Amino acid sequence: MLKIENLQVHYDKVQVIHDVSLEVNEGEIVTLIGSNGAGKTTLLRTISGIKRASGGSITFMGEPIHQMTSHKIVEMGIGHVPEGRHVFPDMSVYENLQMGAFRRKDSQAAIKKDLEHIFDLFPRLKERSQQMAGTMSGGEQQMLAIGRAIMAKPKLFLFDEPSLGIAPIIVAEIFKMIKKMNEEGSTILLVEQNANAALKISDRAYILETGKIGLEGQSSDLLNDDRVRKIYLGF
Ligand code: ATP
Repeated sequence: MLKIENLQVHYDKVQVIHDVSLEVNEGEIVTLIGSNGAGKTTLLRTISGIKRASGGSITFMGEPIHQMTSHKIVEMGIGHVPEGRHVFPDMSVYENLQMGAFRRKDSQAAIKKDLEHIFDLFPRLKERSQQMAGTMSGGEQQMLAIGRAIMAKPKLFLFDEPSLGIAPIIVAEIFKMIKKMNEEGSTILLVEQNANAALKISDRAYILETGKIGLEGQSSDLLNDDRVRKIYLGF
């Protein structure tokens, strides 16, 4: 579904992504793990067209997208949930979710059905549907950011550190949610510092080390890899 080949990305003269190749197949959860500054956010921003590649290619559903605008990439079906919940603080939870659907061309009935589905997945958002998003807790805002992305009905979700700065109990809920979305048919590329939880829910993983793929494989194998355990899992 997504194929990245020999990707190079620079900030001015500094190269931060070096020759990265990776693939996400339809129906998979793929995790991207790496230390601070490894280039994970940059990679997601390049996929969604916010940052331009300086070399290599990105293909989505068979079409090259690395020259497209981010607007067009959203239309192609890539939904990006960026790091640090970007909700509209002065709109209610309900209005934020409605905003997620604004590009959709299907019926109001279909949109309403998806909204109900999100409320089933995140009962907390239902309870607080009239609350201003800016007054929600960090974890609740993260749920809302995910809910809003679901409303856009993308084919591929890019999640950037959904567990960052969130209480463990909510983190567990968010990982469960991501797994459930996948079981219902979503394809997911997940960037996470919480390597243990991410490897547990994903099919395959890539480890990014200062802009290069250091290791890749089945998540279950990486969970048992000595180097991964020492550096990224801490045991
Ligand atoms: P973290 O886990 O800390 O969020 P990351 O793996 O997501 O890190 P990036 O944010 O992609 O890493 O950063 C990769 C490198 O690019 C870092 O050295 C960072 O300082 C640099 N960088 C990121 N954004 C910019 C920018 N706008 N201008 C210049 N350098 C940048």
